[in-house]
Order: sequence, then C-alpha cells, then structure tokens
Amino acid sequence: HWKHGGIVGVLGYGGGVIGRYCDRPDLFPNCAHFHTIRVNQPGGKFYTTKILRQLCDLWEKRGSGLTNMHGSTGDIILLGTTTDELEPVFYELTHELNMDLGGSGSNMRTPSDCVGMARCEWSCVDTQAITYNITMTYQDMLHRPAFPYKFKFKTSGCPNDCVAAIARADCSIIGTWRDDIRIDQEAVKAYAAGELVTNGGAHGTKARKLDIQKEVCDLCPTKCMEFDGKKLKIWNEDCTRCMHCINVMPRALRTGTDL
Ligand code: SF4
Ligand code: SF4
Repeated sequence: HWKHGGIVGVLGYGGGVIGRYCDRPDLFPNCAHFHTIRVNQPGGKFYTTKILRQLCDLWEKRGSGLTNMHGSTGDIILLGTTTDELEPVFYELTHELNMDLGGSGSNMRTPSDCVGMARCEWSCVDTQAITYNITMTYQDMLHRPAFPYKFKFKTSGCPNDCVAAIARADCSIIGTWRDDIRIDQEAVKAYAAGELVTNGGAHGTKARKLDIQKEVCDLCPTKCMEFDGKKLKIWNEDCTRCMHCINVMPRALRTGTDL
C-alpha cells in the first residue's frame, strides 16, 4: 500500500512529480519510494521512435522501466523511482531529450489535444498550435502551483471531441464550422444503395445498405435533416454540429469550409 502524495519534486518546480512512499519501508526497503513523474507530452502525442527509445532507456536506467502512455491528463507517466533519481531524470529529460515535466497538484495541468489537422480531415482548428500556445504562455502556472485546485485545458479539433475536452477539462476548446455541411448527393445515393462502407469502417468493413432515414435523419438531435429516397437536405440553421451524420456517411458529408 502506498501513501499518496507527499512533498517531493525538483528544484524550481512545484509540480510534475507525485510522491509515492511505501507504508512499510521497514518490510519493503527496495520499494520504500516509488515516485511518479509526469512528462509534458508533445501536441497530438506524435513521437519519433528515436525519442521513445531514449525515453525508455532513461527510465530503465533511472526508474522502474514502467510507463503509462498516457495518463488521463495527457502526460507521459513514468512510474516508480526514488528521490535521489529525480534531479538526474529532470536534467536528462530537459537537456538531452528536450522534454519538460508536466503539471500535477493545484496548478495548471499539461494542456492536451487531439491529433487535429496533422492527421484528421475533420479538424476545424489547429489543435497543436493552440496547445503549444497555451503551454508556452502559462509555463509559470504549469510548473508552480498557484491555484486552490487543478485547472485543465483540452482542445479537440471537432465536436467528436476525441480528447474528451467536455468531460475532462475546465476549459474545453472545440473546433467547429460556421457555414453549411458539404453534401455529395452521389455519395448519399451510393450509401443508400449499399455501395459504400458506413461509419468509415468503424462498425465493420463490408459495404452495406444504409437506412439513411433510420440511421441518420432520425438520430439527428435537432431533426434538421430530410431524405426523400434520393436527395438529402439539411437545414443548417438548425444543425448543432454534433458530427453524427458526418461520422456515419463520411464520403457523402463533410464539415463546412468557413472555420
Ligand atoms: S476530435 Fe475531431 S478533429 Fe480531433 S481527432 Fe477526433 S474526429 Fe479528428
Ligand atoms: S451534424 Fe448533427 S445536428 Fe447537424 S445535421 Fe448532422 S446529425 Fe444533425
């Protein structure tokens, strides 16, 4: 059993290390300390294999070798090291890997984002640019706890909200579009005729007939869609940009272009 928390960290920072001490160091001296280190993940969680190898080598050498990619905050979590290894880990992270500690405790937590425009055609905002900007602007708040409680920023490129900004952040930034959903009526017909794979293949990779009325129009939360068997109509002024219809028919429907 671990005692949670405790005052432990690196010089100049108030967050980033979570103290873990064994309740019975007399019985288990080899795991008397097992501190957790939070490492600020890159925007969109993109890595080179080289940096991942370096990170694993560092943690094999100075910690338990156990990692969690990633914690719910978004950080890389390095699990289990001793107090005397904290400063060397911090030095090597910042000087050799060009990485920094993340947030913990009552500070601004490491901002996190979805893959955004780097990989996803639905992204309406540059999630990585936003996250980088917030991270650099609030460095002090990120490393030195000044709040009565934690505070989280999360940025999703579209309302699918893959980074769970609504559920898990205090400030949720979600990209959307101002104009109309783009419709390819030929592709709508192809979905209805069973020529295309629905949901981008997420629910099975075989083409099947899509019941557009039942599976798309009836599930639109604002009922702003109409399908007469041939043509799909959307009353965009009533659309809440929930992404449901686009997720089901990505070949036929796309987000607008006025971002
Ligand atoms: S939130 Fe939207 S833009 Fe970001 S990865 Fe998910 S689907 Fe793509
Ligand atoms: S995005 Fe959502 S609200 Fe808008 S038309 Fe599609 S299903 Fe309806």
